[in-house]
Parts: sequence; C-alpha cells; structure tokens
Amino acid sequence: MADEIKLDTSIQTNDIVFECPNCGKSLAIEARGAGMEITCPDCQNTIPVPAPDATNTDIAELVSELEAARAEIAFLEKNQAELQMHLEQISTEWGVIQNALDRVMALIQDLRLR
Ligand SMILES: [Zn+2]
Repeated sequence: MADEIKLDTSIQTNDIVFECPNCGKSLAIEARGAGMEITCPDCQNTIPVPAPDATNTDIAELVSELEAARAEIAFLEKNQAELQMHLEQISTEWGVIQNALDRVMALIQDLRLR
C-alpha cells in the first residue's frame, strides 16, 4: 500500500503539505498518505506523514494566491509603464510623420502654383 503513495512536486488542493523534520524540505503528499511513513527525497530519512491540517493548507494556498496576485500587479504596473513609453514614442513619431506630410503637401501646392 505505502508504495502506491507518491511524493508529488505539484501541490494539489487536498495534499498534505509539511516539512521534513530532519532536513526541513517542504513536502507534499496526497491526503490519503496521512499517518504513513515516507522516505524524504532529500535526506532519505523515514519520516511520518502528519494528519492533514486544513489550516496550514489554507494558509499556504492563500499565501501562494497572494504571491500570484502580487506578481500580476507588478507585471501590470510594468506593462503600464511600458505602454506609456510606447504611447509617447508613437506620439513623437506621429509628429514627425505629420511634419513630413505637411512638407509634402506644401511641395504639392508649390508645384500646382507653378
Ligand atoms: Zn528530509
């Protein structure tokens, strides 16, 4: 039975998240692994899987959600700054194009008058 329980690097909602008491490595195991003993992939010690702690899991989830939200905000802020720069650049370029157009129009007018 114990052999069926596999350590997973991607944390699922129902996983038990805990730290190896020997080396402190963060481990996640499916909820049905509670009370079993596993071998730590880092220090190779046999360690007991604690009972699922809903509070810990919830906090871990909230923290990761918060971090994701923060990253998204930082990303959007960076994009906004870049967008602003692009807009200024476009507006400068548009001015140059407008000037060139004005000169072309003036040349055309000039030619017509001759
Ligand atoms: Zn360990």
